[in-house]
Amino acid sequence: MSRATAAVSPQALPDKDALSGSILLRAFDQSNEAMLVTDCENLIVAVNLALCRMSGYSRDELIGQNPRILSSGRASPEFYAAMWQTLGNQDFWEGEIWNKQKHGANYPRSLKISVLREADGSIGNYVANYSEIDANHEVADRLAYLAYHDPLTNLPNRLAFESQLAQSLRSCEREGYQLALMLIDLDNFKNINDTLGHHVGDQLLQNVALRLRECVRASDLVARIGGDEFVVVLPDIESPLTAARVASKIQSNLADSYRIADHILYATPSIGISLYPIDGNDPVTLLRNADTAMYHAKSAGRNNHQFYTARMNEAAGERLAMENELRQAIAAISPANSEFSLHFQPQVETVSGRALGVEALLRWNNPKFGAVSPMRFISIAEETGLIQPLGDWVIWETCRLIRMMKLQGVDGIRVAINISAQQLRHENLLLLVRGALACYDLLPEDIELEITESTAMENPEMTLSILDQLAAMGIVLAIDDFGTGYSSLAYLKHLPIKRLKLDRSFVTDIETDVNDAAICAATIALGHSLGLELVAEGVETDEQRAFLANLGCDMLQGYFFSRPMPFEDTVAYLKARLAEQ
Ligand code: C2E
Ligand code: MG
Ligand code: MG
Repeated sequence: MSRATAAVSPQALPDKDALSGSILLRAFDQSNEAMLVTDCENLIVAVNLALCRMSGYSRDELIGQNPRILSSGRASPEFYAAMWQTLGNQDFWEGEIWNKQKHGANYPRSLKISVLREADGSIGNYVANYSEIDANHEVADRLAYLAYHDPLTNLPNRLAFESQLAQSLRSCEREGYQLALMLIDLDNFKNINDTLGHHVGDQLLQNVALRLRECVRASDLVARIGGDEFVVVLPDIESPLTAARVASKIQSNLADSYRIADHILYATPSIGISLYPIDGNDPVTLLRNADTAMYHAKSAGRNNHQFYTARMNEAAGERLAMENELRQAIAAISPANSEFSLHFQPQVETVSGRALGVEALLRWNNPKFGAVSPMRFISIAEETGLIQPLGDWVIWETCRLIRMMKLQGVDGIRVAINISAQQLRHENLLLLVRGALACYDLLPEDIELEITESTAMENPEMTLSILDQLAAMGIVLAIDDFGTGYSSLAYLKHLPIKRLKLDRSFVTDIETDVNDAAICAATIALGHSLGLELVAEGVETDEQRAFLANLGCDMLQGYFFSRPMPFEDTVAYLKARLAEQ
C-alpha cells in the first residue's frame, strides 16, 4: 500500500462494522496484499483476508492484539526504536521484516506502515501492508552467478563460454582479428578421481583452474566446460605461433606436480587448438575441430598440443572404420575361422629361470587394417562395449588351448588372462569362468586373471565382491600395470590378490633413473611385506634381470626371455624348457 492509500479518509476505516458494505471494505478485505489497521494504542482493529492467510491467524484471534504477535522476534529493539522514530517524524516507514506464522514458520516480507492522523493532528490509526519481497537480491545475484559459472572452480561455465566466444567472434569479424580456441583435457584425471575419490579430484580441478588462469592474460577467457575439460580462448592473436607459445606454457605449468591431501599427483594436459577463421567461423565448428585435435593429442602420447588440420577428420573416419571392422570380426568369430588369435609370453621364475606360466595376449589380424596393436583395438572395444563378447571369447579360447597344451604333454603351466573393467562389472564373469574351466576339464589353478590397477579401484565394492568370489573358487588374481594408478598398497591389502605386476615403464629405466629404481625397490619390499608375489613386466636386458633379481623380484616377463608367441611356438618353447630342467 502506498502513501496514496494512507490518504483514505480516516472515517472510512476504523472498524470492520463501520466499513461493511462499502466498496472500500471489499477492496481492503479482498486485496491480495496483507493489510492490518491498528488504533492509536497500536492494537489491531482491522485485518484483511490476505493477512489471515499469510499469518495463519483468524480475524478474531488478531483483533485487539498488538501486531507484535506476527513478529518472528528476529529484529532487535534498536530496529523497532528506529522504526517508531521514523513513523513519528515522517508518518511513514518501510523496510523488510521477518514474520512468524501461527504455526511457527518464519517468512520475510516487505512492510510499509502509514500513520493516519485526526483533524487535530493526533494519531488516529496505523495502516500496515505486507508484500512479498520481489526477489531476494542476494539470491538473485547468486543464481545469476551460478548460471554462468562453475561453482567448483569459479570459472565461467559452458553457457558463459559459448556466449563469450560468439561475442569474441563477432568482434574478430569486425576488426579482422584471428582467434585461437584451445580445448584442454587432463590425461589421467579419471584415474585419480576413481582411485583417490572425488574429494581429491575436485581439489585437483581447482588447482588446475588456478594454474590455467595464471598462464593467460586477463582478457583471455578460461572456462570449464565439462568434468576435466577446460577451454582457453585467445581473442586477437597475431599468429598461430602465439597460440603455440601459450599451449606450451599451459603444458609445462599443468605438468608440474600437485600436492593434494598428502598425495603428489600429476595431471598432464592434452590440448587441441582450432583457429578462427581458418578452422571455422562459428563456435560449434571451432569447438568440434579443437575436440578432434585434442583427441589427436591424446593418441599422440598425451601431454602435448596439436593444431587442427583437415587430415584429422580422416583419422576419426579411420577409427570409425576400425570400429566397424572390429564389430564384424567379433560377430563372425568361429572356431575354424577367426581374425583373432592368442599369443603367449612366458613368465619366468627369477631364481631358477624356469617358465612357470604364460600370459595370453590377444592379437587381431584384419584384412583391411592388417595386424592391429591391442593398445589400439582394445580401447575401441572398451569404448563400444565390444570388449564383452571379445573378452568372453578370450576366456574360452584360452581354456581350449590349455587343454590342447596338456594333451601335448605340457602341464603345470598357469596361463594369465587379461580382464577388462567392463567384464568385471558383470556377475556372469563367474559363470563364464566356471563354465569354461568345466568344459575343458581344467582346474582353477590352471588360469590366473589379470586386472589393471585402475580397474581394481573402480567401483571398489562391486569389484571386491566379484574378486572375492573368484578367489574363493581358487583362482589366482594379479594386479596388472601396477604403479600407473594411484592405489595404495594399504587399499590393495583388502583385495584377494596374490600377485602384483610391476609396470613396464618402471622397469625400462631401472638402471638409469634413480626414481624408477627406488619405486621398484619399495614396491617389491612392500608387496612382499603384504605377502604378495612380484612380477616385473618388460624385462628386455640381462642388466634389468640382474637388477630385479637383486631386489628379490619373484617372477620376470619380457622380451629378454621371449616375445609373445603363437600357440605352437609356445608349446615348443615350453617343451624345450621342460626338457632342460
Ligand atoms: P599387458 O597386459 O600389460 O601386456 C604386456 C604387454 O607388454 C604386451 O603388449 C606385451 O607384448 C608387451 N611386452 C612384453 N614384454 C615386453 C618387453 O620386454 N618390452 C616391451 N616394450 N613390451 C613388452 P601387447 O600384447 O601389445 O598388449 C598390450 C596390452 O593390451 C596388454 O598389456 C593388455 O593390457 C591389453 N591386452 C592384450 N590382450 C588382452 C586381452 O585379451 N584382454 C584385455 N582386456 N586386454 C588385453
Ligand atoms: Mg597383462
Ligand atoms: Mg601390464
